[in-house]
Amino acid sequence: MFRRVLLQIYRLAILVAIAWIVRAHYVRLRIEGNSPITLEEVRAIFPKATELRADSGERAGMFVWDGAGHQLGYVLRTSPVTDDIIGYRGWTDTLIAFDPALHVIGVRLRSSQDTAEHVEDIREDRYYFKTWNGKSWDSVARTTPEQAGIEGVSGATMTSMAMAEGITRRLRSADAALALKPPPIRFKWVDGGLVAIIVVALILAFKGTHGRPWLRRGFQVLVIGYVGFFAGAPLAQSLFAGWAENGVPWRNAPALVLLAAAALVVPWATRKPLYCQHLCPHGAAQELLGHFAPRRWRIALPKGFAAGLRWLAPLTLGLVVIITMLGLPMDLAHLEPFDAYSLRVAGIATIAIAVVGLIASLFVPMAYCRYGCPTGALLEFIRARGAADRFGRRDIAALLLVVLTEGLAWKYQALHAWIFSTT
Ligand code: SF4
Repeated sequence: MFRRVLLQIYRLAILVAIAWIVRAHYVRLRIEGNSPITLEEVRAIFPKATELRADSGERAGMFVWDGAGHQLGYVLRTSPVTDDIIGYRGWTDTLIAFDPALHVIGVRLRSSQDTAEHVEDIREDRYYFKTWNGKSWDSVARTTPEQAGIEGVSGATMTSMAMAEGITRRLRSADAALALKPPPIRFKWVDGGLVAIIVVALILAFKGTHGRPWLRRGFQVLVIGYVGFFAGAPLAQSLFAGWAENGVPWRNAPALVLLAAAALVVPWATRKPLYCQHLCPHGAAQELLGHFAPRRWRIALPKGFAAGLRWLAPLTLGLVVIITMLGLPMDLAHLEPFDAYSLRVAGIATIAIAVVGLIASLFVPMAYCRYGCPTGALLEFIRARGAADRFGRRDIAALLLVVLTEGLAWKYQALHAWIFSTT
């Protein structure tokens, strides 16, 4: 019993780890853009700095820590928020450093697209950089460079004034984002319908249909129509990846979040494959087609071929991780059939996967579920399997997926530059 609990905790930890790495990666990308703040440049202001930790909040900067676990201060860059502020002929990216109470203790020019001579003039004007020292975040954000009496650097007035304006604008835009009130929870009647379907699915999963197959068939038709075509709510890799990147939209789509939570938590805690057996429109469509197809149509796949096909879903999960972490220009929705239920947005690839999967299910029951579905593989991974459950190959593969995700986050800049310089 204890071993099985540990195994389930391990599986949950794997999913949490992947989601956490993806989230942290995207927070860093949002903050750092294509020119990450480095420890070396921060040490010019904080000599004891040993670590930079991304701030996932609206200020979008980085906390500076020393080796003894003390927060030394906070740094942020003005680019890309202020890239539309042009000095003489281009933008300037500035590093602003604060003490823990958010008073400026240093400003550095990081890079600029302005004229090299102007930039050099600014770099050599030490007095100019001290203009902001000692001022609080609020006073810098609320005062224009002109109101603060900043005159700019002689010979590089336009560039230096643009840099000063960029500093003010960067802090103001963070303040504006902080002042935004979170929107109210939007629970629409379509959400109510989805919640009702989840409740019925839970009843069917735990109570069964008591020998009334029409109940299951009727519910499957409802799931295809409502969850698939009407609500457009099938769970998919594109959805999970998007949530990991940007956060869970529980205010805007509460029922969809509930559906995803039920799909993960119920099989994890109870062994019941709630989503795949009762709530997935594509699973329901395959089961219905398989049910009505004549038995003589069924074919048995050669063992080796079937074994090869079983690699498809885990390999697709690996591909999802690579596309997500490297920001490759590929739509994850095109790897699965689920967008085909949203008729207005469905792409050719999605429709093709959906149609091929449905046709295949006439000959091999639940063919796509058994061999091709990465979302099904993910939900099956997290599912408890009772007394016979053991640490197995899929658990090792999942750990490798964590290593792959972390490795891609670690080497992102180099890999991204290499891929996009060769394409
Ligand atoms: S395996 Fe995939 S297609 Fe099949 S029921 Fe599960 S999520 Fe749906």
